Amino acid sequence: MSPYETSDPVDAPVRPKTGLSQGLKSLIVLGILGSASALAGIVMSGRTAAPFTETAEATVQAPLAARLVTAWDAVDASPVQRIEGKLERNETLTGLLMRLGAAQSDAGAALHTLAGTDLLDSRRLLPGKTMAEAWFENGQLTAVSVRAAADLSLLITRTADDNWSATPLYAKLTPGYHRVEAEIETSIYAAALELGAEDQQVADFANAFAYDIDFQREIYPGDRFEILFETAYDERGNRVRNGEVLYAALNGKALKRGFYRFTPSDDTVADYFDENGESATKFLMKTPINGARISSSFGKRKHPISGYTRLHKGTDFAAPTGTPVYAAGNGTVERASRNGGYGNYVRIQHTRGYETAYAHLSRYATGIKPGKKVIQGDVIGYVGSTGASTGPHLHYEVYVDNKPVNVMSLNLPNGRKLEDDPAILAEFKAYKATVDALRTARGEPVAQAALSTAQTQQPGQSEAAPLQSP
Ligand SMILES: [Zn+2]
Repeated sequence: MSPYETSDPVDAPVRPKTGLSQGLKSLIVLGILGSASALAGIVMSGRTAAPFTETAEATVQAPLAARLVTAWDAVDASPVQRIEGKLERNETLTGLLMRLGAAQSDAGAALHTLAGTDLLDSRRLLPGKTMAEAWFENGQLTAVSVRAAADLSLLITRTADDNWSATPLYAKLTPGYHRVEAEIETSIYAAALELGAEDQQVADFANAFAYDIDFQREIYPGDRFEILFETAYDERGNRVRNGEVLYAALNGKALKRGFYRFTPSDDTVADYFDENGESATKFLMKTPINGARISSSFGKRKHPISGYTRLHKGTDFAAPTGTPVYAAGNGTVERASRNGGYGNYVRIQHTRGYETAYAHLSRYATGIKPGKKVIQGDVIGYVGSTGASTGPHLHYEVYVDNKPVNVMSLNLPNGRKLEDDPAILAEFKAYKATVDALRTARGEPVAQAALSTAQTQQPGQSEAAPLQSP
């Protein structure tokens, strides 16, 4: 509703409605002008007479008038000028205001009002993103607005006695959705970023597909991908924040699959499910390490140290010493100790007769000892070269009923299947229909608040794995 809400509700006197037509017609609300008192601050600082006064009157139609008045009303009838600009690399805010035309002394004095307050976090000032607006009257700086955060603008106005005062204006953000869909020419990462996604959305996409596809080897030029994610829009329709990925799809040579982010009502953690309600998550990870390359596969080979040909009972992943190694699935640590040629060794027992083992570790993660329960993705140790090893790598083994198996060709049991629970499956189907409607909607913002908060704002997997192939 109200474009911008100040922390301090409007305190201007209520006056009868007059002179709003112009404002109503040109409802180009200045992003920062939300509070009648704040706007009055700008307007009152002017020395102009009639037109300004009238605008000021309209302004104090608190609380509704504030959103109906635009500075353009004032611009039309007065020498007020508004100039905006974005922070450039290696530029200070003072520098930006000077570039917009402010005198150094004015820019410095205006920004000095923020000193000692916690209104502005300088780490959030980003070249190319942080925007400032400056208002000038007769060439003299009268007001400044700095976008301090997605939902916070700081309005600094010159007071009647030539001092400056700052007012935080909290924007009311509107939830929306953004969809990117493209052919992969170089990488999903490059294409998605170009279309408005950010690192986090691409990381979520990669996580959803981590069990299904090897991004380094199974993505081909011409493959298509789609990502639908949550966003927030400010009152001017600018997309100011990206959020959770609600849908991720790959339509490629190696795999055609789409995943919906969904939190079953009997669970607290969101997971990605395909259209049939099958979890993207597998019972075991094929690659319990990030960013590694397979340096030796399961099978018969000549051992590099002993020289004997024998069965290589696992898969080797070359990675730098210290790279975290994850529990491939939920289970209980059976062993975490030195084991001959295996060096520092962890073995985990899972359900259904599965066990996994991790060898040559440089060290164990804190708390990893027999009896410890782990969940998939927990760090259990770090890559090393202990035991009979020629260089840092993870040797990873999977056993089924005590027999070593090749995890890479193993058809692993899946994670949860929602069809096992008809009530939850029905819940999922309804949710899926909503997301599908968002996917086909056009324009932004799309179908605001179509999804309930409960379904879209789950904490989910907070730890995003680094991308294998950005
Ligand atoms: Zn090995």
